[in-house]
Amino acid sequence: MFEVIIGLEVHVQLNTKTKIFCSCATSFAQRQNIHTCPVCLGLPGALPVLNIEAVKKAMMFGNAVNATINKKSVFNRKNYFYPDLPKGYQISQFEIPIVENGYLMIDFDDGSQKRIGITRAHLEEDAGKNIHEGDRSLVDLNRAGTPLLEIVSEPDMRSADEAVRYLKKLHAIVRYLDISDANMQEGSFRCDVNVSIRPKGDDKLYTRVEIKNMNSFRFIQQAIAYEVQRQIEAWEDGIYEDEVWQETRLFDTAKGETRSMRGKEESADYRYFPEPDLLPVTLSDEMIEEAKDIPEMPDAKRERYVKQFGIREYDATVTTSEVEMARFFEAMIEKGISAKNAVTWLTVELLGRLNKAGLTLENSPVNAKKLAETVKRIEDGTISGKAAKQVLDYLFEHQEESVDGAIEKLGLKQVSDDAAILELIDKVLSSNKEKVEEYRGGKEKLFGFFVGQVMKISKGSANPAKVNQLLKERLNS
Ligand code: ZN
Ligand code: MN
Repeated sequence: MFEVIIGLEVHVQLNTKTKIFCSCATSFAQRQNIHTCPVCLGLPGALPVLNIEAVKKAMMFGNAVNATINKKSVFNRKNYFYPDLPKGYQISQFEIPIVENGYLMIDFDDGSQKRIGITRAHLEEDAGKNIHEGDRSLVDLNRAGTPLLEIVSEPDMRSADEAVRYLKKLHAIVRYLDISDANMQEGSFRCDVNVSIRPKGDDKLYTRVEIKNMNSFRFIQQAIAYEVQRQIEAWEDGIYEDEVWQETRLFDTAKGETRSMRGKEESADYRYFPEPDLLPVTLSDEMIEEAKDIPEMPDAKRERYVKQFGIREYDATVTTSEVEMARFFEAMIEKGISAKNAVTWLTVELLGRLNKAGLTLENSPVNAKKLAETVKRIEDGTISGKAAKQVLDYLFEHQEESVDGAIEKLGLKQVSDDAAILELIDKVLSSNKEKVEEYRGGKEKLFGFFVGQVMKISKGSANPAKVNQLLKERLNS
């Protein structure tokens, strides 16, 4: 039996307005190479100036993961050549990163949690992009110099599932802090996975293989599964030493397998040395104090939801799992509906429909206010829960329609008027005289039959609670 050891390095693009060492914009550019200047082009004589906003965001992250913020940290040059890196080195942090020794808790479906250590988080600049077109390659430096926070975990994860749970939690934290848009498709939240195996009970660490630049939870899961299987098979076949060596691999999403890219560099290969053009970063007490002011994080929010709204722990985990979800939930609660109903209608009914349509909460055709109003119409007896699902379907297709407008159009208003319901009841009882006798003679099971008949002739529009109440009165009188 083998144990799987996984550590992750995540690069998060910080959402500052300008780049980390110059005042070029980080926003979307209409053309290649227009958000550039002598600094990010690496022209001789140009000097970097540190963007304090990037520093502040890194400090906020440190506080969110219970880490040490180093009062003094140092920038280094990481030397390597690649066409998208015009200076020939990346400015990064090496011996003394700004953030060290933190942790976060990952959530399992049964409500339990596991602590995953965060070794460090350091600031660095992003490289540009190489664009390959047929037999030529082009370089776009708009991204060069964009601030990155590289977050390095301890090798604390024991399965692909745990790795994905860690990434989801990290993603949520970064979005809660609003320090990055963390858009995975666009590469502002990307991940390198380190995977090794060892026989269970062994506490030695064996050769780790790095899978680079993953930007989808599903692919990360698949890549780890493939890589673990490859290593285990090599071990069992007695060719572990030949097949598994320290290297960087790429995940081929079409074939579902990892492929060797290059031998993994040791840090010594990069000839790190202190960046002579930047002073060490020294944080004032005031800055350190200010960075402690961060929004409520998912774990704290989860605990509060359980206490304040009395919802189940599992539901609280789901509703706090992403900041958009928490915002949506809170906006629903503000409309004065029950928290339990808000959870069900958000996580089951709305999310179910969104998933089916390939949509997310951000582009949901039904907003929090409308979903809450729909629930409110169940709670005040205007419509049944079943009818509310039809209303939701309708609102999904007709964004401009109001909740009451949809109820009206679909003719779903419940009949709660006593006289109207009694009329229906009497109709049912008079055409089932024998059954009424049997009921009165003690066959109480028949009650459900009468309810069903009344609902049937009302075409489902009668308020079931009212039907029950009035039927009981009539039959027992
Ligand atoms: Zn620039
Ligand atoms: Mn890096």
